[in-house]
Amino acid sequence: MIIMKSDATKEQIAAVIKEIESHGLRADVSQGAFRTIIGLIGDERKIPFDHFAILPGVKEARMVETPYKLISREYAKLTGESERRIIKVGDVEIGGDKLVFIAGPCAVESKKQLFKIAEGVKKAGAQMLRGGIFKPRSSVHSFQGLGSAGEEEATEALEWFREAGNKFELPVVTEIRGESQVDLVAKYVDIIQIGSRNMYDQDLLVKVARTGKPILYKRHFGAGIEEFLSFAEYMVAEENKDIILCERGILPLGKGKSYTRYTLDLAAVPVLKKETYLPVIVDPSHAAGRRDLIFSLSCASVAVGACGLIVEVHHNPVEALVDSQQQITPDELKELITACQGIHKAIGIKQNGG
Ligand code: PEP
Ligand code: MN
Repeated sequence: MIIMKSDATKEQIAAVIKEIESHGLRADVSQGAFRTIIGLIGDERKIPFDHFAILPGVKEARMVETPYKLISREYAKLTGESERRIIKVGDVEIGGDKLVFIAGPCAVESKKQLFKIAEGVKKAGAQMLRGGIFKPRSSVHSFQGLGSAGEEEATEALEWFREAGNKFELPVVTEIRGESQVDLVAKYVDIIQIGSRNMYDQDLLVKVARTGKPILYKRHFGAGIEEFLSFAEYMVAEENKDIILCERGILPLGKGKSYTRYTLDLAAVPVLKKETYLPVIVDPSHAAGRRDLIFSLSCASVAVGACGLIVEVHHNPVEALVDSQQQITPDELKELITACQGIHKAIGIKQNGG
């Protein structure tokens, strides 16, 4: 990181950037209230910091050890950036003072099913609609999502999705499973989801980040928090800071029945919020894998400071083509939202904003 003097000239800043680039790195330039901070993107070991420290206009040049400096609170403080990133999608603010509920089916199954559920989640109080069109599945023999049938089918499902979002005034989010889907999906949705299985796919992260769309980024079930943040940095390095981090459960421990699909790592929420300024939400549905736990886990997530939830909802869960055991009804969503709002209010700004 290079911290410029408060009276550094444009020419001095440009000269430092040029020198950084000559070492094969890129510069992330932040114009703070008092001074310019230049973050280095690339292998910092190639940088002779002692040399940079004596360049005209430079106040300080030093190595930043953390692998996720661009999204760290420390960097935000230095650059004068807000310590809380609020991502605006239509009228919805993610990471602001209000909780955000993203709800909808695991998979889009038909236009009728989608519209029925969209209407239900809107009435229940959700602000955004989710729905899988390209489903990541463990078995090739399972339903892969309507989008997997071909480009025509994918386009049709995306059109319904956009239409449902417009009709019920719900911004829409869907997952992309691979690089080949990015351009098509980006044309239709407000937020692109990168699912847990793709958390490590750095080429995909870069490609999605370059669309400029906000990204709902899920932690892999085997990833540590540092890894999760390090990979999030790939997207921010593409100048897309609209990243919503999502905790969705990690692999359960021990032998025998684990009773839940994954283990919801509640501590990850306040830890992520301490490490970074990005908004953090929780997916209780995939963590639990069973509908009778969604209410409790949602309440707990809000209590530890999640700024929103993404919940799977189906008007007739038992008939859902994917994840039928974990989807809740719109009525259950309504109860959940009411309880979470109460908790959010009770814990106050310290938890929510801190
Ligand atoms: C999903 O949200 O539809 C999904 C597949 O989630 P995850 O990537 O967390 O398993
Ligand atoms: Mn699902």
